[in-house]
Amino acid sequence: MNWFLQCTECGKQFPLEPGRYLCDVCSAQQKPDRPLRGILECRWEAPSAHEKFGGSELNGEPGSKLEAGQRRSVDGPGTPDSPSYSRGGPGSHSCGDQHRHVPAWEQWLPVDSRFFPPIPVGHTPLWEPMRLRELTDIPNLFIKDDTCEPSGSFKDRASFLVAAFALERGIKEIALASTGNAASSMAAVGAASHINIRVFLPKKAPIAKRIQVLQYGAALTEIDGTYDVAFEASLAYSRETGVLSRNTAYNPLTIEGKKTVSFEIASQLAELGKRADHIFVPVGDGVILAGLYKGFEDLLRLGTLERMPVIWACQAEGSSAIARAWSLLQEKGVIQPDSVPHASYSKSGDGRHLGDKRYAYTTAREVFTPESFSSPQPSSTIADSISVDVPRNGYHALGKLSAYGGMPVAVNDREILLAQRELASHSGLFAEPSSSAAWAGFRKVLNEQAEASNPAAASYLPRIRRDDTVVILITGSGLKDTASALKALELS
Ligand SMILES: [Zn+2]
Repeated sequence: MNWFLQCTECGKQFPLEPGRYLCDVCSAQQKPDRPLRGILECRWEAPSAHEKFGGSELNGEPGSKLEAGQRRSVDGPGTPDSPSYSRGGPGSHSCGDQHRHVPAWEQWLPVDSRFFPPIPVGHTPLWEPMRLRELTDIPNLFIKDDTCEPSGSFKDRASFLVAAFALERGIKEIALASTGNAASSMAAVGAASHINIRVFLPKKAPIAKRIQVLQYGAALTEIDGTYDVAFEASLAYSRETGVLSRNTAYNPLTIEGKKTVSFEIASQLAELGKRADHIFVPVGDGVILAGLYKGFEDLLRLGTLERMPVIWACQAEGSSAIARAWSLLQEKGVIQPDSVPHASYSKSGDGRHLGDKRYAYTTAREVFTPESFSSPQPSSTIADSISVDVPRNGYHALGKLSAYGGMPVAVNDREILLAQRELASHSGLFAEPSSSAAWAGFRKVLNEQAEASNPAAASYLPRIRRDDTVVILITGSGLKDTASALKALELS
């Protein structure tokens, strides 16, 4: 299969090679203290996909199937200029894809599996939490549990692919900035792969994550400042030394590695004859969100899914730049969740069919207005893993949410801590605060729906119906930050 990189902003293509991180053209417009311009995504050429799996298994030519799915969609007009898909949400159930074959993600990554690090990443359990189902009256509630990744964090998925790429290319060192989980994750995978890892970590990162980094044998540079300061310090180091950067969003393989969770969710649900209607995910930089979308985009393109789930981007109120940007753009009428997504979202006519080499996905021009991300506000939240002043993948995340009918939801620290306890005490799953934000977001949306005196007034929101299949993505173990968990126990 032929892999390449493509700018999510302008569509320009680049070879997949070490040292290529951002689009030359778009990154030249980068302003200080704003999300990254010119984010690149990994793309693959379609013909080999068809050849590899055969038309019958994938129900036809990639792309043509999606057009059929779009025509059958009953809940929205789709996107005239962008790839053919149908948006999720109420009324969009069209049976058909539950039992389709979902390919293993190992076959759909830009590094040959011979170079995969010898550490068991991915293939995490999908819980069926009976007490939480009763509590919420959502019988098809599931939890995707990435606390049981080798380092205890979802970040292992990105580290795994970056390390595989390094092994394939003979690269001996990787550097990165982190709030904690990416550092401990990359250190773990680096240890398994015999790759030197240097991490730039804020001093305030939870002690357990620092201990992990050191136990795994990585070089630790502590930063007297925020993650954003660490991010710049690590980039400076990579520029000076030529060492491969694993900085999230900046390295395109971080998004690509994280897409593996979508393949697993789709596959695990398909075995039960289901598919995801709603997914709640913690969001800081917006890269897990982008990874989820990328995985489902691939599955749409392969014809194994017919529509995108509604993805809820759960942010901490004290670090909610994406949610704030969303609100501002909504006030300006730029984002209209229940209307046709941006007509300008894609102008790449030849890339309209997902089976073509050229993807049509680019980020809507409107999200780059000064209003979307104004001067950063200092982040302050107990959910350290999603605490960022500047969401590096902010523009791209906004573009995806608006194109696919997703929605941000912000929760405060008290809601997060209460959610942490509720999740642990009703399921047996102990999640760190950032992951608990996903559970808190789900509870908040359910409550707001239940309390809405005038449902019509809130009809622009994607509605969760009782029979919908809802997945909560839990991305980190509570044991990584016991100080915060102690605060949760002190709440009455
Ligand atoms: Zn570009």
